[in-house]
Amino acid sequence: MLNDLKKGELIVFAAPSGAGKSSLIKEIISNNENIELSVSATTRSPREGEIHGKDYFFISDNEFNNLKTKEAFIENASVHGYQYGTLKSLVEEKLNNNIRVVLDIDVQGYNQIAASVENIISIFIIPPSLDELRKRLLLRGLDTEDVIEKRLINAKNELKYAKSFENIVLNDDFNRALEEISSIILSKDYEYNGTDIQNILKNLLD
Ligand code: 5GP
Repeated sequence: MLNDLKKGELIVFAAPSGAGKSSLIKEIISNNENIELSVSATTRSPREGEIHGKDYFFISDNEFNNLKTKEAFIENASVHGYQYGTLKSLVEEKLNNNIRVVLDIDVQGYNQIAASVENIISIFIIPPSLDELRKRLLLRGLDTEDVIEKRLINAKNELKYAKSFENIVLNDDFNRALEEISSIILSKDYEYNGTDIQNILKNLLD
């Protein structure tokens, strides 16, 4: 099934944390009936309000390793000390029902998928600057300053991989970014002339 995908059946999103990826994905999915998010398995504990089976399948290390042995994952990676993986059976079930599938994964997972699956759409979301990213992480109020500094270091590392994605979308303005993503996944012609993405990326990496 994953060997003969049509372009756009699988849409992979990645971004440094705080870039606004989750909110953008949520909006894309609520606006498009035939696009759904693949619920990943993870060994991390649920955060307040998160629901097993909706946000993630929260499983033990043992369970995760068993699934890995059974080759149940399309990709899996260790992120911030926990394991995460995309379940092949869930993705295939959606594809069989003509549902386009969105994966919200990290760059390691993307690299695995890009190496083995053809015809994916890949989108990397970038923030306008690291200062803006810090501001958003502070505003979100989920992390201590220590953790925020770690996330910023991780963000810089993740940004190095942006160029291996087919599309890089600047989240300078939520609605504009949403429009750009919609155009990419709905194959409309879209050209954003406002800012030079390559320049912004260069500044983020300097
Ligand atoms: P969080 O624990 O904050 O929900 O997610 C942490 C990171 O793990 C995010 O970058 C998210 O995209 C990534 N992630 C979530 N699910 C998966 C997955 O199934 N595979 C991979 N490789 N990364 C994932």
